[in-house]
Amino acid sequence: MTDVPGGCLCGALRYRVTLPSLWCAFCHCGMCRKAHGASPVAWFGVPRDRFAWIASPDEHLGRYASSPGATRSFCRRCGSPLLFESERWADQVHVALATLDGTLDRPPSAHVFFDDRAGWATPTDDLPRLGGPDGTTPIAPPDGSGRSR
Ligand SMILES: [Zn+2]
Ligand SMILES: [Zn+2]
Repeated sequence: MTDVPGGCLCGALRYRVTLPSLWCAFCHCGMCRKAHGASPVAWFGVPRDRFAWIASPDEHLGRYASSPGATRSFCRRCGSPLLFESERWADQVHVALATLDGTLDRPPSAHVFFDDRAGWATPTDDLPRLGGPDGTTPIAPPDGSGRSR
């Protein structure tokens, strides 16, 4: 098993994850878009017991309840968004891949919440595009075939 560190822009918040990860995907949902100021957001999941804070001082660790049962954690000093935790995946921690200071054991494998995407953020890769109410149901094929919303 391999430990990989990560953290926020200013360094106040530091964590480590123990690989292997569970999954990695690009999220196109509107909430990630606002929270990160970018879209899509690459996330990976690890079992809860494989995520550990190295440094998480109370004055810098911010938590925002972005929807019922879901929390986004960020640095109060520099603003970096780091984690997403939800009752829907209660045994996992979702980590913003861009905050990892090392190499994950897998690349992003899909686009989720694809039908919530911004018009300026259409990917050009061939990864599966998933959407629907749960964000993970197969929708338009990679070639598009005229679907729009
Ligand atoms: Zn910071
Ligand atoms: Zn999202």
